[in-house]
Amino acid sequence: MTTTADERRVTEAAPTGLFIRGAWRSAQNGATTKVEDPATGEVLAEVADASPADGMDALDAAQAAQPVIAAMPPRERSEILYRAYRLLHERADDLAMLMTLEMGKPLAEARGEVVYASEFLRWFAEEAVRIDGGYQVAPNGQTRFLTIREPVGVCVFVTPWNFPLAMGTRKIAPAIAAGCASIIKPAPQTPLTMLAFAQVLADAGLPDGALNVITATDAGGVMEPIIRDGRARKISFTGSTPVGKKLLAQAADKVLRSSLELGGNASFIVLDDADVDAAIEGAMIAKMRNMGEACTAANRFYVQRGVADEFARKLADRMGALKVGRGTEEGVNVGPLIDAKGRDKVVDLVADAVANGAGVALGGEPQDGPGYFYPPTVLTDVPENSRLNHEEIFGPVAPITVVDSADQALAAANATEFGLVNYVYTRDLNQALRIAENLQSGMIGLNTGLVSNPAAPFGGVKESGLGREGGMVGIDEFLETKYVAIGFSG
Ligand code: NAP
Repeated sequence: MTTTADERRVTEAAPTGLFIRGAWRSAQNGATTKVEDPATGEVLAEVADASPADGMDALDAAQAAQPVIAAMPPRERSEILYRAYRLLHERADDLAMLMTLEMGKPLAEARGEVVYASEFLRWFAEEAVRIDGGYQVAPNGQTRFLTIREPVGVCVFVTPWNFPLAMGTRKIAPAIAAGCASIIKPAPQTPLTMLAFAQVLADAGLPDGALNVITATDAGGVMEPIIRDGRARKISFTGSTPVGKKLLAQAADKVLRSSLELGGNASFIVLDDADVDAAIEGAMIAKMRNMGEACTAANRFYVQRGVADEFARKLADRMGALKVGRGTEEGVNVGPLIDAKGRDKVVDLVADAVANGAGVALGGEPQDGPGYFYPPTVLTDVPENSRLNHEEIFGPVAPITVVDSADQALAAANATEFGLVNYVYTRDLNQALRIAENLQSGMIGLNTGLVSNPAAPFGGVKESGLGREGGMVGIDEFLETKYVAIGFSG
């Protein structure tokens, strides 16, 4: 498939080196790795493939920059974030194009992600100047307590491919706001967007070494020595639960502060008294945003019997009207999945459900030809023991199970080791509050299909993670509390 002049201009302009100490360079051994367009399988670019020695160089750079950024007045750190926010908007079209090319999501969604990602910069620009402390009289009146909040120190970030920019700014912005230098390793499928963002921060005036970006195919070999070194004091990871557990074990060695944003298995509950059309609108976002490749994606639909047929029919109609194609093409709503492995997993999960007796209301057959496309699919009467009720689908597949009561839906929703988000549609306030209080997840979408917002605390419970990103608590993950006891003689 031929690429347009605009697409070539954007990929040719994208940085492809390692970004260390504010400068671009090749891997020390000269290694590179290819970045593919998932819609065509064509190679877009070759980026540097870091070795463990490059990783340690990035750690040295971050360690050297740590006192510089920590000593910078909060207002200056805030101004850097504001400038980066404005630059992101100025470069939004090119960044969105780059993201679509390497990740596959439609251009409109990529533009949406640039805006979403930029809002973390703006939010934390506002937070940088609000880091507070405290002064307290001891209960016995004989000492005074001074409480100071200090940057946690050098941070290590590892991010996934599904939101190549926002998953990075969600960590980098609070780190800068708090006065922490960092090293980030983006996913190998989508490094170009993060590399382009490093240039944005450099142009916004971030001190050299305060952010270092390393791209590596040997993720474990490069990151483990950094994590175990002990000079970095924090790790923040977004990705799958198995990898999160591995990194948490590595972080335990030197007792690093750890934030983990891991996998999800969101339920989408629709009760008999729900506004079904509103639930369809919410489902289209919760299921189809990012082609279903989101940790917050609705993975299981539990619909009460009285509205089940109407919901399934309307959802199949809406999903069936979506246009599948290359994300750069006009009018496309559903791009390719990230790679062959991602597409094959969706194929297997659907086959398993159908073999178990699920009905196919829409789609269900993978597309031939280049690229990793999978059509919007609606499955009905999905047996509870089907794999897709227990594993992340990460694709445009909506499995619907009919339930007879709110309690049955609640029990099914909680029957998972994950606890990131659940969605509930009901008009009954009492019922809504009871369900919200009893759902085991860090977030709940109540009569809405979208929970992500930089101003809200994002995160999960159970095996979906530790800590929160964004909101007023977001910066806490990057601060240590120090207390000074002061003798007082009256
Ligand atoms: P993944 O396989 O866990 O990979 C995530 C990142 O970790 C990639 O950069 C990966 O690089 C790296 N990695 C893998 N093994 C590593 C190791 N031993 N040491 C250091 N880094 C390592 O996840 P993914 O497939 O990219 O992303 C999808 C997952 O992310 C889903 O489970 C989704 O739910 C989750 N997610 C969660 C959130 C949230 O906020 N809770 C948000 C978005 C995504 P390599 O690919 O080179 O191994």
